[in-house]
This record gives sequence, C-alpha cells and structure tokens, in this order.
Amino acid sequence: MTTLTSLEKIYDSMIYDLHSHTNFSDGMLTPSELIVRAKKMGVSTLAITDHDTISAFKHIKIQNDHSINIVPGIEFSTSWKKINIHILGLNFKLNSTALKEGVRFQEKARSQRAIMISEKLDDIGFKRSLDGALRLAKNENIGRPHFAQHLVNIGAVDNIDQAFRKYLGVGKPGDIKSFWASLPQIIKWIKEAEGTAVLAHPKKYKLTRTKLKHLIDDFILAGGQGLEVVSGNQNPETTKDLAKLCIEKKLLASCGSDFHKPGETWAELGNFAKIPSSCIPVWDCW
Ligand code: AMP
Ligand code: MN
Ligand code: MN
Ligand code: MN
Repeated sequence: MTTLTSLEKIYDSMIYDLHSHTNFSDGMLTPSELIVRAKKMGVSTLAITDHDTISAFKHIKIQNDHSINIVPGIEFSTSWKKINIHILGLNFKLNSTALKEGVRFQEKARSQRAIMISEKLDDIGFKRSLDGALRLAKNENIGRPHFAQHLVNIGAVDNIDQAFRKYLGVGKPGDIKSFWASLPQIIKWIKEAEGTAVLAHPKKYKLTRTKLKHLIDDFILAGGQGLEVVSGNQNPETTKDLAKLCIEKKLLASCGSDFHKPGETWAELGNFAKIPSSCIPVWDCW
C-alpha cells in the first residue's frame, strides 16, 4: 500500500479548474463574479477560457489576489475535417503579440460568421437577427448562443436548446464553419505566447474512436501538448477512456468544468472528478 506524504496530500486536495467562461463570451458572470464563485467552490487555480477572446483579463488584477491562482486562458474555435473543434490555450503570456494577433483574427471571423448566420436566419423568415444578437452580446465576442437567446426572446423557440436543435446546431442553417484559423495556426499562436495547447472536451465531437485518434495525431503533429481528460460532469467511463488515450499519446492531462452559468445543465466550478493518477497533469510543466 502506498502512503501519501503530507505534501502530496495538500497537492491532491487542490482543485484546478482550467476551463470556464465569463460574459466576455457566452458565460453569464462577470470576471469578478466568476472568481468570487470559484473561491466559494474551493477552487485553488482557475483558468478563464472565453471563446476566442482574452478581454476578461483586462478586468482582473491577477497579481493582487493570493487566495486563488488565476491562469490566463482562451478557448479557440477551429474546424478539422469540417467538424467544429475547440483548442484551449493555457498559461500563456497575456501581452504576447502572437496571441493578440490570433484573437484579432478570430474576432473578425466571428463578426463575418455572425453576418452569415443572420443572412441564413433571414432566409427562413427571422428578420434582423444580427441586431438582436449584437445587443445581447453587448458587442463582445458574438456567438451562436446570442442568436439562440435572440430566437428565444422573439418567441421563435421555447429555449436555447431548441434553438440549437432547430436552427444553429450541427447541420442546421446557422451552423457555419469556414472562417476559423486552422488547427496548426492556433497551436502556433498559443506556443509562441509560451502557453500550453490542450484539445478541449474530446468526446463532445462525437467522433468514432479511429477518427478521434486521427484528430489527436494531427493535434500532436501541429505541436499540441494536452488532452482535457476530465470535462465537467462527463461519465467515469469516458474519463477512463480519455486517460488511456492521453497516456498512449504521451499527452499532458487537463481538467475543467466548462462552467458558463449557475444551473443544472452546466457543471459547477471545481465540481468534477480528479484526473486519474496515471496521467501527468498539465500544470506539472508550469
Ligand atoms: P460558438 O462558439 O458561437 O460557435 O457557440 C458555441 C457555444 O454554444 C458552445 O461553446 C456552447 O457554450 C454553446 N452551445 C452549443 N450547443 C448548445 C446547446 N444545445 N445548448 C446550449 N448551448 C449550446
Ligand atoms: Mn460556450
Ligand atoms: Mn467548447
Ligand atoms: Mn468552453
């Protein structure tokens, strides 16, 4: 039987939540509200990973807060073989020119995509949805959730989930993929900023095992370093399987809630399973 040293015990009890959203993308809480909530939930290290933006960090004084460690983060959108894929950039230099260039590129892609989504919705009878979505996004990084909320607000659908199922999700008119930067380009930006590139929630893409391995191989070939082995309240079998893949592919393991807002469908901050001890956590290289 192995016994833990006291140092290992402390390490083991620390909660790393390396995937969360603020209202600078499609989250509900402001950066300070998110941090307050993370502390309440016992999180010791929090990465804020908004979709394609680092604007939240303009509103946080990272240096001055000793009760929680805040890690710079971002969740980049890209597509791989016409499938929407998310890449987390973690622990990078916030003032990196490369990363800022990446953010600008993706912001433009989001604006162009929003116009196209609006045109598609217009075609099927929902007029001027861009105005509605932009108002909801408050001109911060506009995304499909803002269009979804707009469709709810005008009574076109009963809820956000229905908006995705009918109009915005995979294969629906508002599902437009072609503008994002490529997977290698995104990884290059993250690494130039001295960050770690992690493939987010690998099981959410609903790929066959062969195709997932193919994605991981391409991710590694482009310089990717980590796999999000634990994402929110995924089932234990999924975690076991991802841990196996993580070890097999010699990647570092990450974990996070993917918290967007308080409520039942999203995992709570810090509230998810531990990374299996067979994996090397991504923070070991920080
Ligand atoms: P975007 O980055 O603009 O393409 O929007 C993708 C985001 O929409 C995801 O990160 C989720 O937060 C959200 N999303 C996707 N599908 C759903 C759904 N069925 N219900 C609620 N939110 C969703
Ligand atoms: Mn989201
Ligand atoms: Mn995601
Ligand atoms: Mn996310």
